[in-house]
Amino acid sequence: MDKSEFDFKDTGEELLKRLADLKPRQEAGEHMPCPRCGRYVMDEKPIRNALSRCADVFICDACGSDEALRAMCQAPLPLRDWAYLISERGAGGASDEL
Ligand SMILES: [Zn+2]
Repeated sequence: MDKSEFDFKDTGEELLKRLADLKPRQEAGEHMPCPRCGRYVMDEKPIRNALSRCADVFICDACGSDEALRAMCQAPLPLRDWAYLISERGAGGASDEL
């Protein structure tokens, strides 16, 4: 069995870990785009943003509402579709426009 190709970590656990790294930075006051939608709409005070119900990280209000709606429909946005994780993956020619 050759599994050398299988090094793209896309398990939820791995993604959660990477997102968890963001929270201390957010709490330290680092201004960053919303990790979920990638827009610079975060309040500079972390606690004024929404806490994601999918990961231990702050997201913008719009994403917080979107998550609540999706939770009701039981159709959460997959973590791998979060802007932060997409941009981190990079190199794939992902567009920066949103
Ligand atoms: Zn957002």
